[in-house]
Amino acid sequence: MKVSIQGVSKSFDQIVAVDDVTFDIRDGELFFLLGPSGCGKTTVLRLIAGFYAPGAGDVLFDGQSVNNVPPNRRNTGMVFQNYALWPHMTVAENVAYGLDVRGVSRAEKQRRVRDALAIVRMSELADRSPTQLSGGQQQRVALARALVINPGILLLDEPLSNLDAKLRLETREEITRIHSETRQTMLYVTHDQKEALSMADRVGIMNAGRLVQVGTPHEIYRTPNSRFVADFIGEMNFIEGRVEHAANGEIAVATAYGVLVVHGNGFQPGQTVTCGIRPEALTPTRDGGTRNLIHATVQRATYLGEIEHYTLTLSDGRSLRALETNPDVVRRFGEKLTLTVRPEDIILLIQ
Ligand code: ATP
Repeated sequence: MKVSIQGVSKSFDQIVAVDDVTFDIRDGELFFLLGPSGCGKTTVLRLIAGFYAPGAGDVLFDGQSVNNVPPNRRNTGMVFQNYALWPHMTVAENVAYGLDVRGVSRAEKQRRVRDALAIVRMSELADRSPTQLSGGQQQRVALARALVINPGILLLDEPLSNLDAKLRLETREEITRIHSETRQTMLYVTHDQKEALSMADRVGIMNAGRLVQVGTPHEIYRTPNSRFVADFIGEMNFIEGRVEHAANGEIAVATAYGVLVVHGNGFQPGQTVTCGIRPEALTPTRDGGTRNLIHATVQRATYLGEIEHYTLTLSDGRSLRALETNPDVVRRFGEKLTLTVRPEDIILLIQ
């Protein structure tokens, strides 16, 4: 099922939780809403589920407005961070619950519960009580319970946040596998950028009630459209400058630390810009090239074997983060380094 959010706003008293948000979740897509705490992600999810009515705009399922359809008629499945399983029912009974209330025949119910437990790889534990399961197993039962009703969209609200780091990784892979096997349309809400980058077909980034960018994980990471997105996803150094020269897809930006050549179009000489440089794009020079050289002093070097992280200071005392893969030396405090960055790895942002 395709879900469209068109110009949707929602306020609680004086607080604008969702502010004129428009986006589509395509049929079969695993779509992520990502943003800091309080940015409005859960409110969007609840507007889709029907727990809230939009103050303005429309929620459409396959092109039909569902604004006046109550939650129990919307055919959405939900998975929460706290599993919400019935402790007095077995795993199979928990999964069957949604079918019982829908009056599905006994034979069909058995078949669908069996299939749903097989998808989440919990068939062996069908007769256990949820109290005898690990957090990861309980979350898989909650997934089976939501999938068994064949929802038009599965809504997942921070589903991994109660799990420890190892289980979180495992369950992340499970959800990705289940999505690729079922092509179930899913909306997944999180503030964990690693979850979003590693799992999503597309990601919508929210800030203060607004949807500020939608794209694939690669697009969001490589071409953030604002300083907020650049900073929120991954790590980023920001260096201010002024466009000196722009021609043939190359832009020369004068900065306090020298001229940086950037690949791009659409900038004019004289424009004030910010160069965004990811730490992994900034690395000590090996061959002493002549372009995009930045001189800095090592404040701290953290050697991790396959990688070395650097915190450096620039000539005016500003801090910079860089890293080196396959490092052959351990750098010392106070050591002078010349770093370089490829023109295609600098993100130019308008100030
Ligand atoms: P988190 O990651 O912390 O769950 P979120 O991005 O999901 O945050 P929302 O829960 O959608 O954010 O909340 C958005 C804003 O709306 C917040 O300022 C929140 O305090 C407010 N809000 C949400 N629900 C209600 C409510 N029922 N009544 C009043 N204010 C609310």
